[in-house]
Amino acid sequence: HQPLNAANAEGVAKHTTLYDGRKASHRLHVLVVGCGMGGLAAAHCLGQAGHKVTLFESAASISEVGAGIQVTPNVSRLLRRWGAGEALERVTVRPEALVFRRYEDGDRVAYTRLSNMEEQYGAPYYHIHRADLHKILYDLAAPFMTLRLKATVVGVDPNTPSVTLASGEVVRGDLIIGADGVKSLIQGVVLGHTNPAEPTGDAAYRAIIPSHLLLNDPDLKGFVDIPEMTGWMGPGRHIMAYSIRAKKEFNIVLIHPDNGSVESWNAEGSADRMRADFADFEPRVRKLLSFVDSTLKWRLMDRQPLKTWIHPSSKVVLLGDACHPMLPYRAQGAAMAIEDAAVLGNLLSRLTDPAQLKTLIQAYEDLRLPRTAETQRQSRLNQKIFHLPDGPEQEKRDAGMRQAMEAELR
Ligand code: FAD
Repeated sequence: HQPLNAANAEGVAKHTTLYDGRKASHRLHVLVVGCGMGGLAAAHCLGQAGHKVTLFESAASISEVGAGIQVTPNVSRLLRRWGAGEALERVTVRPEALVFRRYEDGDRVAYTRLSNMEEQYGAPYYHIHRADLHKILYDLAAPFMTLRLKATVVGVDPNTPSVTLASGEVVRGDLIIGADGVKSLIQGVVLGHTNPAEPTGDAAYRAIIPSHLLLNDPDLKGFVDIPEMTGWMGPGRHIMAYSIRAKKEFNIVLIHPDNGSVESWNAEGSADRMRADFADFEPRVRKLLSFVDSTLKWRLMDRQPLKTWIHPSSKVVLLGDACHPMLPYRAQGAAMAIEDAAVLGNLLSRLTDPAQLKTLIQAYEDLRLPRTAETQRQSRLNQKIFHLPDGPEQEKRDAGMRQAMEAELR
């Protein structure tokens, strides 16, 4: 088992020839629904490819939740290629390694070097605040798009094609991209029926702690001084923790069984409840959690891979969580959405005649669906591996990981 995402780095290179700035000679008006990371990356890539882009977002302002995110080399490579290399360097932390520990005593069971990603895959591994990544993508998309905020899409006519907004306004275009997230409305239009995402049995608490609190504590100082990403594996639960924002903030994600208590898919969680859920973790974890005043709680959803992402009219297509929501256990949800955008933009930069649209959209699905389906599957597999109950299987897992660690550190 390889708990990392490095293997994904080869994907984009395999799946696309490098986009070389080519512009489509037939220009489309593309309507993108959703201003998440996927929608913004799509706006950048399609705009860059010469198309006109209007992006619709139901929220009144652009924002992202207060949490960290991992940017693996398959994505940092794209962001650099798009010109965001310096911006990334300013706001990220480059982790040296991923270290997995036993939950109850902190004993180290796995070590994977991350500092050599640039050598191995041509781009670094980064940790970043979600708002900072969202802003980088916004800045990349802004020159190419008309952004409509407070513009909830309530209906789609896939044949015209057009979207209807909550205000009653109808906007016509040539292609609609559903980048509207895990609760996608557009997905229902593409499939012709609703197919809600499924609970995975897990939920996540997320919190950010100011790093100076850790630096003032001799037991916790090392978590900031040495930029490792630390994972603790326990029965039915795991934690991932790492520094963000030039090591000024410390991000912590705590995965635990979903007790069904959250009505919405993300909500304010109780910090005391979180501490109780992880009370049997090693003392350093308990100390870390004592610094958390408030937490966000996420119900984690995914779905079986869809058979298609394209409406039969070939004028509505899905991207990101709208078509392939996944558990975050390979840190690839946003990564896959951004890769989707890169491939779609690259393909549609070749459009010279409207009759080619169907073939190019189909090529997008053919290139992307198997890769995202496999990533969804592997993310589910990590759920089993990370959460093994104490016993023979867990001992076997740890022994295998220790062996790999010794080889890595030799
Ligand atoms: P979203 O971000 O959900 O964006 C959808 C947008 O569409 C929203 O802004 C919404 O308001 C808008 N919208 C919805 N419906 C409408 C409508 N009808 N009209 C107008 N607008 C609409 N991924 C990684 O790559 N690395 C990680 O380390 C990582 N860690 C994660 C940790 C956790 C705990 C979780 C929960 C996820 C993590 N992910 C990670 C996954 C990542 O967050 C998602 O995959 C990614 O944000 C999906 O982006 P998206 O643009 O497809 O959808």
